[in-house]
Amino acid sequence: MRVFQVFLVIILLGVTLRAASAAETEAQVVELLGQVYRPQVVNSEGRTGWSLADPEVLRLVGQTTTRMSWSSDGETLYFSGSVRESQWKPGSSQVRVDGSEQPAPGRLLGRGKEAWMEPEALFFALALKPQNRGDRVVAMPEVPVPRLEVVAGRRELRVPLASALRVQPTRLRLDTLRLRFPGCVWSGSQQTMLVDDVQVAISEREGTVLMDLRFPPNWQGEIRSGRGLTEVLVGWRSSFPPPSTIREVTGLGFSPETAASGIRVQAEGPFEYHWNFDRSTRRLTVDMPGLREPASLPVSRAPQGGWDSFRFRPVGTPEQPILRFEGDLAAGHGWQFVEEESTPGLLFFRSTSTGQVGSLAQTGSAATAGYVSSRGLIVLDPGHGGGDPGCVNRSLGLLEKDITLDVALRLRDLLLEEGWTVLLTREDDRDVSWRGSPDRVELQARCDVANQSGADYFISLHCNASVASTRAGSSIHWFKQADLELARSLEFALGESLGLGQGGLRRDGFYVLRHTDMPAVLVEMAFLSNPREGSLLGNAGFRQRIAQSLAGALQEYVSGCYARGAELPGNAPR
Ligand SMILES: [Zn+2]
Repeated sequence: MRVFQVFLVIILLGVTLRAASAAETEAQVVELLGQVYRPQVVNSEGRTGWSLADPEVLRLVGQTTTRMSWSSDGETLYFSGSVRESQWKPGSSQVRVDGSEQPAPGRLLGRGKEAWMEPEALFFALALKPQNRGDRVVAMPEVPVPRLEVVAGRRELRVPLASALRVQPTRLRLDTLRLRFPGCVWSGSQQTMLVDDVQVAISEREGTVLMDLRFPPNWQGEIRSGRGLTEVLVGWRSSFPPPSTIREVTGLGFSPETAASGIRVQAEGPFEYHWNFDRSTRRLTVDMPGLREPASLPVSRAPQGGWDSFRFRPVGTPEQPILRFEGDLAAGHGWQFVEEESTPGLLFFRSTSTGQVGSLAQTGSAATAGYVSSRGLIVLDPGHGGGDPGCVNRSLGLLEKDITLDVALRLRDLLLEEGWTVLLTREDDRDVSWRGSPDRVELQARCDVANQSGADYFISLHCNASVASTRAGSSIHWFKQADLELARSLEFALGESLGLGQGGLRRDGFYVLRHTDMPAVLVEMAFLSNPREGSLLGNAGFRQRIAQSLAGALQEYVSGCYARGAELPGNAPR
């Protein structure tokens, strides 16, 4: 039996060797995220590899986020990528990875245009893991352990990507965000870890890495940006309302006595709530941040009113109380929240035997009647006005001063709905100081509105213009250090997400940025002089989209502002 096994191994070896020698003169087939490359095989000194001057190899490198360059003396080849940095010396069996020496998985041989590399070495340098699939090698980008980063005072988890790909987030539970990395492999040694106070759990399913990020109960994770799709930044913010809205619970439980029986939560004042329905367990979770737990918490273990069981329990801290409801819906039941406009601070929901669970939102947020959240005071400055039209697009008949005012009025309405206090430097077509005033006087008058009202934020709205009609794009301008975080939060609000050009962040010493005492930005919404962007600015529906996008980004910005410190936006450090 043993003899037979040895023979079999020798036969298999022979087949493998023959296959390898036959392939030497051919191209190999490498696939990366659906793209196919055919590098020519180089054979020398008993090793096989690919030339680094081979156009197919250069295309492969180009699809990754790693860049390859030689040192000036031509003795070291650098690979710098977002996942890892490595330094290779021709012929060496060692490689320097992120600053420390380790055995190389393969060799770099030759220099300059003659340089070539063994495939294992190149894949490692590019943070790709090869898998042999018969006629081809499938290269899978490694997903590394997330790193903690502090960006403008906020903590964020950064997951660099070895190759650009689309990462889709889904909210699994109220406190858990799942990131899906298709076509990737996990490169960490552990499947679970703690990064800051976020629990990270990894699972792999059919060539997809699933990364579950679990935040503490009073925090919610959100993708801050997928910068150019080469990295994912996940931030987390408090889902907790300001301290002034902590409420006592005055009534709680199942109320079969009413005509429509259901779960009642009565607090002394209005409150927010967030819900999540887990389809697999049929469990409805409702978190009510700011509600202090009452002396007794109702529990039902026996089925009643469409619930197999339910209970209330506290999940927050004494300073940040959260009351949680967990109910398991009986088979065939859905649920609905019932609006009670006449009773502020009452949340009423019931199971419904006709309810189509599939048609209900699995996760959502709402508030009881009368709830007004405190978001701070913002001053909106519609650029130009009165005697100063700003820039003009004559062929479209559009004046900058009209567009900035219209967007400011739309943005004001949206922010008021969200609980902001909003002031405008002008609410109609006029100069803020007086007609014909010098620029400096006019601009100071706008700063005075913000400084004298003690505003928390200042946003000046403008349209850009250029003699070159092809110039296009949205840009966000900042000057003071205190402006930067606000500017960052607005960076992706306009631009590409609205089908405009992406101008990015710019630091400029504009008067209104230099002379305001609070975080301030100047938004160039788009180029009025560009025929395409100009006609979009002339469209009321598009101006509404601009306002909505800015309102959404501002909302996220203030939420992040009192994350960690649990401060009101107005008290946020400047
Ligand atoms: Zn302007």
